[in-house]
Amino acid sequence: MPTLVMKFGGTSVANLDRIRRAAKRVGVEVSKGYDVIVIVSAMSGKTNELVGWVNETSPLHDAREYDAVVSSGENVTAGLMALTLQEMGVPARSWQGWQVPLKTDSAHSQARIDDIPPENINAKFAEGMKVAVVAGFQGISPEGRITTLGRGGSDTTAVAFAAAFDAVRCDIYTDVDGVYTTDPRICSKARKLDKIAFEEMLELASLGAKVLQTRSVELAMRYKVKLRVLSSFEEQSDEAGTLVCDEEEIMESNIVNGVAYSRDEAKLTCLSVADRPGIAATIFGCLSDAGVNVDMIVQNISEDGRTDMTFSCPTDQVARAKVALDEIKTSGELNYAELVADTEVAKVSVVGIGMRSQSGVAAKMFKVLRDEGVNIKIITTSEIKISVLVERKYMELAVQALHDAFELDKA
Ligand code: ADP
Ligand code: ASP
Ligand code: MG
Repeated sequence: MPTLVMKFGGTSVANLDRIRRAAKRVGVEVSKGYDVIVIVSAMSGKTNELVGWVNETSPLHDAREYDAVVSSGENVTAGLMALTLQEMGVPARSWQGWQVPLKTDSAHSQARIDDIPPENINAKFAEGMKVAVVAGFQGISPEGRITTLGRGGSDTTAVAFAAAFDAVRCDIYTDVDGVYTTDPRICSKARKLDKIAFEEMLELASLGAKVLQTRSVELAMRYKVKLRVLSSFEEQSDEAGTLVCDEEEIMESNIVNGVAYSRDEAKLTCLSVADRPGIAATIFGCLSDAGVNVDMIVQNISEDGRTDMTFSCPTDQVARAKVALDEIKTSGELNYAELVADTEVAKVSVVGIGMRSQSGVAAKMFKVLRDEGVNIKIITTSEIKISVLVERKYMELAVQALHDAFELDKA
């Protein structure tokens, strides 16, 4: 039998009614003759609640226990989905990550998938089981401990299963009916895309568009998984939603195809650092050792042999960054006058593969922001994106203004 992977996100399994609705969708695909692997998220809000409990119990927690707690939300929905399917007369059973087993490395809370041996599940399909319901987001480390794949990780579970089982397609059911030119929740003019290139989706995801976890897009690209995003709230045809595909499959593309934002960014500056070889290595080496994900970096021109080093990182890593930089100052490894943090910033980016062959996009972006009175704090660019760090209160305004200026509402 051909295999189909269907993933249901948190809002799509938020209560028993929604689970029933999702199970009906699964039933439709089973009746078409597929063996179905269903990947479920935790009920919406559940993972946040679990993370909150862990942080309240132990702020500097043991990451292995964090994973033990935070992975549990998916266990509930997997069991409930299997029960719902059974009630409908569909032969189904649930699997936790370790039972499959979904093998990962030992990077707790951010683990990467090493292998998904298909034998156990295939043996059940051979016995007549029609649906394997798998708890998303979780796996097992070589040490035999439960791991999780980072927030939004059920998308990655789904794509990895599609690759491991050579599925005909991986359908990601969520609370929007596809991938839009920007988040439809903050820009009413956002337009749904029928298709989006892997490269653009990868860039949008890594710049904050949480509709797909970045790793899931990477995996789909590498293993040539046919990846589709669609709504779990509407009746769906085989052409519904957005197909994430190779660039060649898209006939015409705009220069800019999407605007992404990341709300929880912070900007930190080491003021007056000695400008000599090795300071960047010292600063960013120590931040990397402390597990801080540095994103944008700017070094000012130096005066009198001293310079300022500015970087951005997620807001929830500021405390860790401060401790790490404090330590190297105290130990005498690095001398700086002061560390200043601005936690009220956000990142806004425009993305498009058309930028490779077109100049002037950056100039236009900066002009749009100027006209809106939005000050730019840091800029970074790559071949197919331009990102700026701005004051958080201007984030939505910037997204909307850029969406208008690049006419993303028009095909
Ligand atoms: P799920 O729980 O199904 O995994 P997520 O909340 O993780 O859903 O992702 C879906 C959300 O992603 C949407 O509700 C939407 O607000 C947000 N989003 C951000 N950028 C985009 C975009 N470009 N297109 C569609 N949705 C987007
Ligand atoms: N439940 C996890 C989260 O909220 C994984 C997921 O939904 O993809 O991050
Ligand atoms: Mg998600």
